[in-house]
Amino acid sequence: MKKAKRISDVPPYLFAKENALRDELVSRGVDVIDMTVGDPDIPTPAHIVQRLVRAATKPENHRYPPYEGTKTFRSAVSSYYRRRFGVELDPLKEVMTLIGSKEGIAHLIWALVDDGDIALVPDPAYPVYLTQVKMAGGIPYPMPLVSNRGFKPAFDDIPSDVAKRSTLMMLNYPNNPTGAVVDLGFFEEASAFAREYEIVILHDGAYLDITYDDYAAPSLLQVSGARDLLVETYSLSKPFNMTGWRIGAIVGSSEVIYNALSIIKTNLDSGQWNAIQEAGEEALESSPEEVIRANCEVYKYRRDTVVRALRRAGLEADAPKGTFYLWVPVPKGKDSAGFAEELLEKCGVLVTPGRAYGEHGEGYVRFSLTAPTERVEEAAKRISAERWGGR
Ligand SMILES: *Cc1c(COP(=O)(O)O)cnc(C)c1O
Repeated sequence: MKKAKRISDVPPYLFAKENALRDELVSRGVDVIDMTVGDPDIPTPAHIVQRLVRAATKPENHRYPPYEGTKTFRSAVSSYYRRRFGVELDPLKEVMTLIGSKEGIAHLIWALVDDGDIALVPDPAYPVYLTQVKMAGGIPYPMPLVSNRGFKPAFDDIPSDVAKRSTLMMLNYPNNPTGAVVDLGFFEEASAFAREYEIVILHDGAYLDITYDDYAAPSLLQVSGARDLLVETYSLSKPFNMTGWRIGAIVGSSEVIYNALSIIKTNLDSGQWNAIQEAGEEALESSPEEVIRANCEVYKYRRDTVVRALRRAGLEADAPKGTFYLWVPVPKGKDSAGFAEELLEKCGVLVTPGRAYGEHGEGYVRFSLTAPTERVEEAAKRISAERWGGR
């Protein structure tokens, strides 16, 4: 078999060693607590499941869905944006249904990045941005996210010849993996930069509704002025515990969504099942705030439990204002893969080495808080029994 270059170029999985160690520990009967994946353990709320069950029985839902999504789901997204962010969106021109936001992010990259174009990609980041830019033949230009800048890119550091060759900038706040958050001023700054060089900004809003401590995350579309270069993906996966359902939306620039992304999508997929879009309407319309608040309370308890344990063990740990991840600096003299292995060996706790998210992820490990609460408590107990950094 001859494989296409576009897939041979995808970086290999760097952590085979850690996985082998996990398998060995499990086979020896060690109780391993997996805190790697960001996939809510809490079930989808019953009213959303019930709505799917009802929608599944309707024969009109057994046929192909509209490519761009149902009018009712797009209207539900538009109303949600008005209530949640004060943003007005034309449901038929500025909203499109996605088969999960990962699908939309990947395909928007295909729609905007040509061979040799530059895409500005945060480092560390959700790996899809980098791999899709490479698959599309584009050149990723890393925007380092470092702690002393609050894990925000410095637009001034991007050389103007790079900016001129860039067609797309990726942003993601609340941020996976760092847990960093931003205010609207940051989006204003990003949008001014994008306008100067005519770069589309895709803001990945997967965690817009996973926030704590009275912080509410802004939408990129709240920036003043034209939104012709601005789009944002919203996902129901994380706020409504619906990762398996594959439902989200892209909102913003009509030109980007309906004159670029839709050309890829109409030729490639046939939309998301109407019944799942109905369930998505239910999520956005039936007391979404209550569902979100209840989930965030659970994550907040887990967050505080693990942060306390890490500090007791002599590690540095900040409680993030958004996402369900902890981005923890590794003790001096260790690298992220080595520290992840040590956590696994000493505590039976599996985390992701920061290096998996990019070069600037080195020096950190990521804990996900989507394991069941009693498992998170057990992990905290084991961690706080250890001593790192000689405190
Ligand atoms: C989980 C996640 C997604 C994917 O969400 P889906 O809508 O389920 O595809 C996108 N971006 C980030 C940063 C994520 O963590």
